[in-house]
Amino acid sequence: MNHADIDTLVKNWIVDAADRPANPRVQQVVTRLMGDLCKAIEDLDLSPSEVWSGIAYMSAAGAANELGLLAAGLGLERFLDIRADEAEARAGLAGGTPRTIEGPLYVAGAPESVGFARLDDGSELDRGEVLFMQGTVFDQEGKPLAGAKVEVWHANLLGNYSFFDQTQSDFNLRRTIVTDENGRYGFRSIVPKGYGCPPDGSTQQLLDLLGRHGQRPAHIHFFVSAPGHRKLTTQINIDGDEYLWDDFAFASREGLVPPVTRIAEPAELDAKRVNAPFASIDFDFRLYRDTAAAPSPLVERARAAA
Ligand code: FE
Repeated sequence: MNHADIDTLVKNWIVDAADRPANPRVQQVVTRLMGDLCKAIEDLDLSPSEVWSGIAYMSAAGAANELGLLAAGLGLERFLDIRADEAEARAGLAGGTPRTIEGPLYVAGAPESVGFARLDDGSELDRGEVLFMQGTVFDQEGKPLAGAKVEVWHANLLGNYSFFDQTQSDFNLRRTIVTDENGRYGFRSIVPKGYGCPPDGSTQQLLDLLGRHGQRPAHIHFFVSAPGHRKLTTQINIDGDEYLWDDFAFASREGLVPPVTRIAEPAELDAKRVNAPFASIDFDFRLYRDTAAAPSPLVERARAAA
């Protein structure tokens, strides 16, 4: 069948079959996607068994709540970021902290504090290295932003996120820190480790067939927001990770790999009230002012809330 015949058929099934008012945007998108799918079936000569195996795959991935992970692993989430970057560049926005993917593991409702928070509940102190991370949230003119919100979340040493991993305490490794009068934020935590897709899950199953690993370098997620400014969704990576530039989710970016300093001076340990050397990361965030010239950075997606 040629593509024009497919377009005619799909229009018949989706558009002409409507006998009541349709949502025009949904109709437009479904018509396009169904047309593209049928063309792929035709061009690649997919067998019915292959098509049904694809449907079974998507059903299983959905039932396991892995479609968000799959979107990251196939590059779809990165693609949306590239488009958002292009739109900001067209609007003349430059010099802000680079965005990178949110991933599927944010949970709303984390405890909020001003200036500083401790993220970890202490349960991994015997295995992990203490991390202090701190910095300033700036506006695009370089002025510190007091009252900005830094939402931070990361995995534990087993690569699991609280809430999704019910063995962890509530909101372990998740906090919201409001910058102080100097625009400063800081937190204490444990240096995270990288992690991979669930080895028996749908995402890894497909990655195996594609000859790809499902590993992420160690990273820390952030939402940074302030009134009158564009919300930033980003992550920093822990320098030195073997997967630093080989992230299965394509989220590593220049500008998001701050140096990790090891601090061992007794006076500094005392000041931080720790009794072993610790890792320290300085990282500032730069937000753009709200503008109508670029699409809203606010992304609606299904998110957990606790
Ligand atoms: Fe993550």
